[in-house]
Amino acid sequence: MTQTDDCIFCKIINHEIPSTKMYETENVYAFADLNPQAKVHALVVPKTHVKDVTELADKDPQLLAEMIRVAHTIAQETYNGQFRAVFNTGEDAGQTVFHCHMHVMTGEKLEGE
Ligand code: 5GP
Ligand code: ZN
Repeated sequence: MTQTDDCIFCKIINHEIPSTKMYETENVYAFADLNPQAKVHALVVPKTHVKDVTELADKDPQLLAEMIRVAHTIAQETYNGQFRAVFNTGEDAGQTVFHCHMHVMTGEKLEGE
C-alpha cells in the first residue's frame, strides 16, 4: 500500500491540499466532502493508498473495521449515532477518486433507502 504522487486524497492526507478535518486516528483520516449530499457528509479514508474497498478488505480488514468505527464516532458527535455508509467501487458505480473512501452521511433523517 504505497502513496501515489498524483492522488488527490493522498495529498489531502499529507495536508498538501486543504480539507476540513472531521476526525483522525493513526490509520484513518476523515474530512468533509466538498459537495455534501447530506447535512453531515464525511469522507473516511485509510491513510495508506489502496484503490477501493475490495482491495482494502483483502489487504487489511482490520483497517476497514476501524473506518466503520470512525464513521460511528462522527455520527455520534454530530447526530444520534445513525449514519449511511456508501463505497462507490469502480467507474460504473460512480467512483471518481481511486483512493478508497467511505461516504458517511448523517446529521439528519435521510430520505431513500
Ligand atoms: P466518489 O464519486 O469517488 O465516490 O466520491 C468522490 C468524492 O470526493 C465526491 O463526493 C467529491 O465531492 C469529493 N471530492 C473530490 N475532490 C475533493 C476535494 O478536493 N476535497 C474534498 N473535501 N472532497 C473532494
Ligand atoms: Zn491515495
